[in-house]
Amino acid sequence: MKDANCIFCKIANGEIPSRTVYEDEQFRVFLDLGPATRGHALVVPKDHYADLFAIPEDVLAKAAQTAQKVGASLKEKLQADGVNIVQNNGAAAGQTVDHFHIHIIPRYKDDGQTIGWKPGELTDAAAEEILGALSAEKK
Ligand code: 5GP
Ligand code: ZN
Repeated sequence: MKDANCIFCKIANGEIPSRTVYEDEQFRVFLDLGPATRGHALVVPKDHYADLFAIPEDVLAKAAQTAQKVGASLKEKLQADGVNIVQNNGAAAGQTVDHFHIHIIPRYKDDGQTIGWKPGELTDAAAEEILGALSAEKK
């Protein structure tokens, strides 16, 4: 299940070289070309799945385990102070490569990066509207 036009299919399967930090039968983890911080890496399955909603549960579980294992190793070896795990789905959410991937972003005290959002306010009306929409969906 590869997509001939997908850059991450090509990188994950070794057709395009990458700075690989971990590889097994199902995944390649390589350094991001536009790193947020020192050691920013991407966990990428060798099979093509567009996003979180297309990836089978068992592959997702292994992807999370891989992020945990490689994240721990990056944190220790690069002496990071923390790690962000980021995963984007859809252009509106910042996804620019339509092949499922998990960002591992080592964080360093005072690294100057911001990964976040501007907090809003959950009003009673908004909460009611959201819960109403969700329960309507269940029916
Ligand atoms: P997204 O925005 O889809 O969550 O993340 C895509 C990431 O892939 C970006 O951080 C971008 O820098 C990285 N990226 C895009 N093309 C390449 C590439 O050809 N090689 C590598 N190593 N990283 C890439
Ligand atoms: Zn792909």
